[in-house]
Amino acid sequence: MKQKIIVIGSGFGGMAAAIRLAAKGHKVTLLEKRDQLGGRAYQYEINGFKFDGGPTVITAPYMFDEIFQAAGRQRQEYMTLVPLDPFYRIFDAEGRPFNYYHQMDDMLAEIERFNPSAKEGYRRFIERTIAIFNAFHPYTDKPFLKLADMLKIMPDVMRLGAFQGSYGFVSRFVKDEFLRRVFSFHPLLIGGSPLDTPAIYSLIVQFEKTYGVYYALGGTGAIVNAFGRLMDELGVQVHLETEVAEILINGDKVSGVRLADGSRVEADVVVCNGDVAFTYRHLIPTPYRKKYTNRRLDWLKYSMSLVVIYFGTKRRYLDSQLHHHNIILNQRYKGLLRDVFSGRQLPEDFSLYLHMPTLTDASIAPPGCESFYVLSLVPNLESPTDWAQMARPYRDRLMQFLEDNYLPDLQANIVAEHQIDPRHFQNTLNSYRGAAFSVQPTLLQSAWLRPHNRSEEFANLYFVGAGTHPGAGVPSVLASGKIAAELIDPTPVGVKEKVYV
Ligand SMILES: Cc1cc2nc3c(=O)[nH]c(=O)nc-3n(C[C@H](O)[C@H](O)[C@H](O)COP(=O)(O)OP(=O)(O)OC[C@H]3O[C@@H](n4cnc5c(N)ncnc54)[C@H](O)[C@@H]3O)c2cc1C
Repeated sequence: MKQKIIVIGSGFGGMAAAIRLAAKGHKVTLLEKRDQLGGRAYQYEINGFKFDGGPTVITAPYMFDEIFQAAGRQRQEYMTLVPLDPFYRIFDAEGRPFNYYHQMDDMLAEIERFNPSAKEGYRRFIERTIAIFNAFHPYTDKPFLKLADMLKIMPDVMRLGAFQGSYGFVSRFVKDEFLRRVFSFHPLLIGGSPLDTPAIYSLIVQFEKTYGVYYALGGTGAIVNAFGRLMDELGVQVHLETEVAEILINGDKVSGVRLADGSRVEADVVVCNGDVAFTYRHLIPTPYRKKYTNRRLDWLKYSMSLVVIYFGTKRRYLDSQLHHHNIILNQRYKGLLRDVFSGRQLPEDFSLYLHMPTLTDASIAPPGCESFYVLSLVPNLESPTDWAQMARPYRDRLMQFLEDNYLPDLQANIVAEHQIDPRHFQNTLNSYRGAAFSVQPTLLQSAWLRPHNRSEEFANLYFVGAGTHPGAGVPSVLASGKIAAELIDPTPVGVKEKVYV
């Protein structure tokens, strides 16, 4: 039966669900608060530069392929992905670069350059991550609605030691301190501390090794545009600058939404891509909530937040040591992570991710110019930091560091700039406590223990996106869209296309 479905939010999770449901013939309306699609993948255009707001490391292209195939299309006709190798260039505190390559032989040669005695441990670490990938990959796009779903995976979690924190897990195999950091940073891509995020998430390492790391020509914004075009072709009604103020409840079901302008839109099903904690707290009135009470929401752990500065320069930096994806590690590691994730204080020091996409795609900046973004981990808004005061001095510190160490004369050459901080995540993206990645991926907040893709309170309310199972990061939120769409309509993909033929 065709249903009237509302999708709240146009992040990758929301768009993936909208496309899959529209492809099955449902009448889908997508409501987005901002003036453009993409959520965290919003693309800013400033003085001729295109800056991807969020995700830059794209992996698992098969997940994009599946979405286009679900709609009877070929992904290649909508966007172009180009592989990157090395995936990352990681600098130690002295500025020595480690190239994190795709292939094992290249990695071993690179480890040899740093510390030959770490090669054997790395081999064993990779063998274990392959075992983790093989055990858990089949579950990454399946719902965890019942305790039994969780119990099924627990024997493998125990057998593979996948409950241990990622950094500790790597340390069992690799003794070199810098290389431990190099092989355990991946939880940061999904909002977790390498010290606490269970090694089950090291399947991300194997996602990258198995499927590669890619860049979409035109930036991640080109993927957003491709999804936008596909939604248009499938007849999804997209309303931008349309904020949902309340999800309307009728008994144990939802009946639609009330918009910020007071109007109401009815629906048979609501799929929410808004932050799950913010949604329960602000869009569903307290008396209706039995499980996700304010108390319970406060008890959950949320990810860190970020400061991101997008900047374009009027000169190129082709002679620098930098690569497309750079990670610049600080001397202080565990202490820095604890400061950021405990939310106690804004640390004075920082480790950085520096994006330099014009090395791969000069078309996203004016001729002769270079485009960057620099990202620093900061506590979420549980911390007392006053960002109205701190934003400018913090920016100056990061830029001075980059100018002194990597990009000579940087500040004299900047011709476009934009900055976000935890206030952006809270106020623009409606994320509880300004967390950049929503609910933290701890062991007690994973799989069945994470907010479910079908609401635990209302039969026809579904959740997709970073705060739900399987978690944050583009592949995970695409998977959440698939899970929700299949729970809503389990008709096999392709059946509708056959009917039309
Ligand atoms: C700076 C940064 C860098 C990142 N880098 C990577 C990376 O390299 N690789 C990777 O895989 N992942 C990365 N991530 C993580 C990844 O971007 C996110 O986990 C993912 O994009 C989140 O998608 P989502 O489906 O949860 O929706 P979101 O992107 O969070 O979008 C939710 C949307 O809902 C809208 N919305 C919220 N409330 C309402 C409402 N009431 N009414 C209407 N609309 C509403 C918001 O405006 C927003 O557009 C990064 C994240 C950040 C912030």
